[in-house]
Amino acid sequence: MTTYRALLETLDAWFARGRDAAGPDVIPCKRACSACCHGVFDISAADAELVATGLAALPAEEATRVRIRATEQLREYATHLPEWTSPWNVDALDERAFDALTEALATAPCPALEDDGGCAIYASRPATCRMTGLAMDTVSVGCLDNECPIQSDFPRYAALAPVPFDLMAFEDDAERHDAAAAARAFHTTTIAGAIAPPR
Ligand code: SF4
Repeated sequence: MTTYRALLETLDAWFARGRDAAGPDVIPCKRACSACCHGVFDISAADAELVATGLAALPAEEATRVRIRATEQLREYATHLPEWTSPWNVDALDERAFDALTEALATAPCPALEDDGGCAIYASRPATCRMTGLAMDTVSVGCLDNECPIQSDFPRYAALAPVPFDLMAFEDDAERHDAAAAARAFHTTTIAGAIAPPR
């Protein structure tokens, strides 16, 4: 079995293939752009472990800043879902309740997002973050739209064809990593949920 980081590199390679195929100056994704780094979304157990690892690798001052932002976001959760508390396990929530939370916090910046628009845990960002920015032709289960919220500002970018990626093979492997992470007490949560609790 590959390591989870190695598996995620296959997503990075997918994005790099798309960038190469698009040609220079078509894909606007760059460090200062953080348009897709807003809103709340669920991350897998393996991603929660990865995020925790990324946080642990940060200099203490930066980790504290990220933790404070995550704690503030968790307080926001409590105003919408007071019954949902630590360890913020998304699987323990009614799906509609989580959808309502994501809708209410659709513009909330990710706790890992730094003031300069960079991601504090870029090398340890979860799969969802690596899948944003291009449409994906999953080969087996149709196409996934590009979730970039500002793509209409870049017509050549918005018109790019979906880039092939064997999502089913990725998910099969990811499931094994989730099971291994679950055995180490990680679970499906959000970025804030993965960051804030002391472990
Ligand atoms: S983890 Fe990083 S890349 Fe992902 S949404 Fe947060 S800031 Fe953006």
